[in-house]
Amino acid sequence: MEYILQQPVVASIGAEKYKCTIEWHHGKFITDEPEFAGGKDAGPDPYTLLLSSLGACTITTLRMYIDRKGWDIPQIAIALNMYFKLEGEKKITVIDRDLNFLSPVTDEQRDRLVQIAKVCPVSKILEGEIQVRAFAYTETTVEDKHTYTNGEVTVQWRPELCKHAARCATQLPQVFNPAAKPWVNMEGATSKEISDQVGRCPTGALSMAEKKQ
Ligand code: SF4
Repeated sequence: MEYILQQPVVASIGAEKYKCTIEWHHGKFITDEPEFAGGKDAGPDPYTLLLSSLGACTITTLRMYIDRKGWDIPQIAIALNMYFKLEGEKKITVIDRDLNFLSPVTDEQRDRLVQIAKVCPVSKILEGEIQVRAFAYTETTVEDKHTYTNGEVTVQWRPELCKHAARCATQLPQVFNPAAKPWVNMEGATSKEISDQVGRCPTGALSMAEKKQ
C-alpha cells in the first residue's frame, strides 16, 4: 500500500469561523463557509473543492487526450454542480458536469471526449468503492525519544505519539519493521526515501533530527 501523495494534505482550523488553512506540498490556501452557514465566504467551501477536484481532473485528462490526438481544440470549460436525492432510504449524490469546447468539434469527437471525461482518475475514485477512515491524535509534549542514524541522517521516534497505524511499516518495510529489534533499520533504504517516509507519519511520532552544524 503506498499513498498517492508524497506528503499528506493538512487542514487546520482555529477559533475564527470557519476559516481553514489547507497545506499542500507546494503552498497553502484558505477555505471557508458561505455567510448563510456562519462563515465569511473568504474561500471555497468543501463542496466547491470537491467539484473543483473533479472539474480540474476532467479537463486536464481531456487536454492530455486532445493533445495526443493532435485535435485543434484550444479551450475547454466545464461547469459542475450537484444535488442529493433519496431512493428509498438511500441518499444518492448526483454530480453533473457540463463540458463546453468553445470551438467547433465533430459529433464523433464530442462523444469520444465525453467517454474520456467519464474515466478521468477522480471520476473513477468517486464512482468506485471508497473507504474514508479517521484516526485521532493529540499533540503532547513528549521527551521519550529514540534515535536511529545511518551517519547521514537521523530519525527520531517518539513512542508515545506512535499510534501503530503501521503506515511506515507498510510503505517502507525494509526500514520500518515492528517485528525486528531495533525496529528501524537505517540501512534499508536511501536517506531520501527514509526522510520522505518520515514526512508521511501522520502523528509526528517520526521526525528527522536537525543536523548539527
Ligand atoms: S507511521 Fe508513525 S504512527 Fe504510524 S506506525 Fe509509523 S511511526 Fe507509528
